[in-house]
Amino acid sequence: MAHDDYQHQRNQMVETQLKARGIKDQRVLDAMRQVHRHEFVSAALRGVAYRDGPLPAGQGQTISQPYIVGLMSEALHLTGEEQVLEVGTGSGYQTAVLCLLAAHVYSLERNHHLADRAASVLKRLNYTNVDIHIGDGSQGLPDMAPFDAIIVTAAAPALPGPLRSQLSPDGGRMILPIGNNKKQHLEIVTRHGNRWEIEQTIPVRFVPLIGRFGFKDTTLQKNKRSSDDQDQTANV
Ligand code: SAH
Repeated sequence: MAHDDYQHQRNQMVETQLKARGIKDQRVLDAMRQVHRHEFVSAALRGVAYRDGPLPAGQGQTISQPYIVGLMSEALHLTGEEQVLEVGTGSGYQTAVLCLLAAHVYSLERNHHLADRAASVLKRLNYTNVDIHIGDGSQGLPDMAPFDAIIVTAAAPALPGPLRSQLSPDGGRMILPIGNNKKQHLEIVTRHGNRWEIEQTIPVRFVPLIGRFGFKDTTLQKNKRSSDDQDQTANV
C-alpha cells in the first residue's frame, strides 16, 4: 500500500468508525484503508475527508459516511469474482471501494457532471475495472445483467422491479435504502431462483433516487432543501 499523508487518518477511520462498530470483513477494511477518500471531495474538504459523517459531493448530493460505505460493502459478501452494479455513482468513492472488492463494477449516475467527474478521478487513480454509465439507474443496466451484487446509494420508495430481476438468481445480493424521502431503512435482498428474501436493517437517510422506479422529479423539487442539507446520516 502506498504511503501518503492521509494514511494515518485512514487507519484511524477504519479502527474507530468501522471496526469499533462491528465491520469485520477483512477485505472491506483493507479496501477502506487503501482508497484515497480525500481525492473524491473538493479541495476545500480534504482536511475533513476522513471524518465520521457524510460530506457534500456537489450538485446537491452527498458522499456517504465511511461507516455506511463499509456496512453496505460488507453486506454484499464480495470475494473478488463478482460483477457488481452500483446505482448512484456520486463522487465515485463507494465505486473505488467496490473496484477493490469485485471483478468489475458498472456504475450508473443520472447527473452527467457527477458522472464525468467521478470517471476522471477513478481514471487518474488507476481504477480500471469500472464502467460509468449516465442514465436512470432505477431501470438498471439490462444489457449487462445478471449482477452478482447490486448496491443503490440513493433512497427508493420501493424495491425497483428492474433491479430485482437483474439480480443473479444464484444467490445474488442487493443492498438499498427503502422508505420515504425523510427516513429509510437499509434493506438486504437475496435472490434464490424466483425467491427474494428481504431483510430490513438500520435506519438511514439518503438523498432520493430520482427515476422511473424511484421518486418523481417533482418530489425532488419539493424536497430540495432537505437534500441540500447533506442529510444523509445513519442512526447508529
Ligand atoms: N455513493 C455516492 C453517494 C451518492 S449520493 C458516493 O459515495 O459519493 C446519490 C447519488 O445518486 C447522487 O449522485 C444522485 O445524482 C444519484 N442518483 C439519484 N437518482 C438516480 C438514478 N435514478 N440513477 C442514477 N443515479 C441517481
